Amino acid sequence: MKQLVILSGKGGTGKTSLAAAFAHLAHNGPASVRAVLADADVDAANLELVLHPERLEIHDFIGGSLAVIDPQLCQACGNCETACRFDAIPPGPTYQVDAAACEGCAACAYQCPEEAIRMEPQLAGQWYRSETRYGSLFHADLKPAQENSGKLVTLVKQQARLAALDGDYPILIVDGPPGIGCPVISVLSGADLALVVAEPTAAGVHDMQRIVETAAHFRIPVLVCVNKADLYPEDTRQIEAFCRARGLELVGSVPFDETVTRSMRNGEPVTAYSPDSSVSREIITVWKNIAKTLEILPAIEEKETA
Ligand code: SF4
Ligand code: SF4
Repeated sequence: MKQLVILSGKGGTGKTSLAAAFAHLAHNGPASVRAVLADADVDAANLELVLHPERLEIHDFIGGSLAVIDPQLCQACGNCETACRFDAIPPGPTYQVDAAACEGCAACAYQCPEEAIRMEPQLAGQWYRSETRYGSLFHADLKPAQENSGKLVTLVKQQARLAALDGDYPILIVDGPPGIGCPVISVLSGADLALVVAEPTAAGVHDMQRIVETAAHFRIPVLVCVNKADLYPEDTRQIEAFCRARGLELVGSVPFDETVTRSMRNGEPVTAYSPDSSVSREIITVWKNIAKTLEILPAIEEKETA
């Protein structure tokens, strides 16, 4: 089973539109390219907005713990205030934890001679197993202001990976989180290929370079695709030059097309909504390049010539 991760240096580059289109193309391909899907952008999961899944399972995600002082047991010795490096326990005479400042490190609990401090697990979000018309989707919601999104990304990807292995699916398509932070590092773990979606703007070029460096650090092979390539040709040329200099394969230049917006509004991948549009044709080219790199192309060609 191969893991494809779709990434971009920032949000809004069209990563999810591509992931939805690949889900559609994989579903309509031969059995050997059927996919399990994962939306690992747990801070703003929106693949479900396009694929309209039916939720089959809902699971709580416990992100971490907060310290709670039992006033009945507390003898006001002040040890916990001294132990807390995050200033989450203000000076006495009575001692209480500021939940907004507590990092859940438990140092205070270890230092309390009265065992008056307990660590309470916190519900940080939920993860789901859903069914879409193009296959199973694993996704999640992290509650506002909660941390540990990297941990939740790992959980979503693990569950999707297990489903792909159990069902003997040849590919896991992961819509990754934007940026280069902890959730991206989590999602790159074990990936066979990263598709970096770049936007032709000055910031987009810079963001693409950062994500390429991050993937290279973890030795993940990278393909690059430019989205809305015709909007700023000069920046597109910069992306092309960067790819040439780094020996990266540029597998597609998807044009700007309002058909994509209409298809999203209609709740369909653009390749299903308007299969003959120029944007769909280019996305199909990108998908074939991915399939070729992951060595599942022969199955697609067999289907087309059948
Ligand atoms: S758990 Fe850590 S951060 Fe929270 S109050 Fe205790 S020492 Fe401070
Ligand atoms: S260390 Fe324990 S007993 Fe001392 S002030 Fe903190 S909670 Fe109270």
